Amino acid sequence: VLGQVHRTYILAETEEGYVIVDQHAAHERVMFEILLGNFETERPASQGLLMEEVLELHPRQVEILKKKLSFLAKLGFEIEPFGERSFVVRALPAILKDENPLTLIKQFVDEKEAGKTHTRLKDAQEDVAAMIACKRKSVKAADPLTLPAMQGLLEQLARCKNPFNCPHGRPSIMKYSLTDLEKQFKRKL
Ligand SMILES: [Zn+2]
Repeated sequence: VLGQVHRTYILAETEEGYVIVDQHAAHERVMFEILLGNFETERPASQGLLMEEVLELHPRQVEILKKKLSFLAKLGFEIEPFGERSFVVRALPAILKDENPLTLIKQFVDEKEAGKTHTRLKDAQEDVAAMIACKRKSVKAADPLTLPAMQGLLEQLARCKNPFNCPHGRPSIMKYSLTDLEKQFKRKL
């Protein structure tokens, strides 16, 4: 890792040349694969809340959330219906532990209600992508990262099944070869 460009892109040297990584797209990809892994293994890494929180919804949204409860449980959320229009939230996926759980769930339900689709993926994958889109809203456009944090993100990205796109289809990594640079600087013709 060489450094960060405009607090948005990570510049790193590779054997063939260098890469520019969009840190938010990369972070989304890493989260997507971890959450999908939670879902598929059905053994999610969960983080309990110090104090349980209560989420109140419109009747229409109550139905939407009820249908998604088993999906959300597999991601690592612990949510239980509480009265007619409320839900108690006790835990959330460990990877989302710094988020506000109520905001996250509310935005997810809003997106489902609006019928927004982010991808051409199927069902669970689509839902996980939607969850990450909600999380993304709370992230600032520019985010300073330390060198070890950048290194860690690139290592996690390298372990992804598809490191090249965010779950919504945006590219996460651009590769540039030394040969291209040499041509541009007319070292080689
Ligand atoms: Zn995305």
